[in-house]
Amino acid sequence: MSELRNEIAWSWSRDKTLRRCARQYYWHYYGTWGSWWDDAPAEVKHAARLKRLTNFDLLVGDAIHKAIARALLHRPAQPCFMPEDAIAEDAQRLFEIAGQQAELADAYYGVPGLPERRALAEAKLAHCLEGLRACTWAKRLFRVPRSRLRWLDDAAAPFEARMVNTEGGYTLFGAPDVAVEDREGRLHVIDWKTGKRDDSDRLQLTAYALFLALKLNLNLDRIHGHLVYLLDPPGRQVESAGVLEDVAPVLGMITDLYADVRSRLSDVERNIAGDIERFEMTEHFGICARCNFRELCGRSASEPSATDQ
Ligand code: SF4
Repeated sequence: MSELRNEIAWSWSRDKTLRRCARQYYWHYYGTWGSWWDDAPAEVKHAARLKRLTNFDLLVGDAIHKAIARALLHRPAQPCFMPEDAIAEDAQRLFEIAGQQAELADAYYGVPGLPERRALAEAKLAHCLEGLRACTWAKRLFRVPRSRLRWLDDAAAPFEARMVNTEGGYTLFGAPDVAVEDREGRLHVIDWKTGKRDDSDRLQLTAYALFLALKLNLNLDRIHGHLVYLLDPPGRQVESAGVLEDVAPVLGMITDLYADVRSRLSDVERNIAGDIERFEMTEHFGICARCNFRELCGRSASEPSATDQ
């Protein structure tokens, strides 16, 4: 097994984190690094605990994504029907288990309204599962031979499976949900959305397409993207998009992140961030109010309201 090294890499979530708050990026990728070692400093272990805090929205998304992925992973090789009831039962079970085992940020920070938030999350989960039953793309993934599924986000796959290197020397992390090949050899990348639409969703899809083009050695003009909004009515669930026009902006985001992070490091060669002050704290206190690390930044005073998440 290769030695575990902390290296700069680009992913959609890393990019979002850095844009949101450089200090949050520091806690995620430097301030918690090595927390798994027995002799790690107490602050590193504590920061890692905060990093793991979650919320009901994340638990809903995770349960749905995992349940679909597991059903696809275990489906027969021949075309079949989508096992709607089994996926729904699995998602509800996963949500229940995670709700018991995971530590919620709201519980940690004593934010009131936890039962109400849980009820909202359960309703959202049920709504997403209804959306899935009506989703033509979901059904299509079972009605083709399994060999046409060229990518599945398998939680049990080794870490390296989600990594790829570009010719320019950048490392990309990607976790596209699923990609299926059609009869003409075009690849369709599907991204399940369990939240509201966001203007940046298309860019995220392009980032996944770029990752898959490198991983599967495909031309980008053979890849089509499909955003599936499970909360939307069946006729308006899917937004399909070519990916070519957004490739340049995504490549720009990758080089920008590398340059930005490197400019903050105390030792670029060894990827060491020895000065936390080079990762400034955001001035947007609304972001802090939902941040897992607010205790470490002395910004736990303002809390999100019961309807914020
Ligand atoms: S609490 Fe605020 S400043 Fe601190 S890491 Fe989170 S978002 Fe950044």
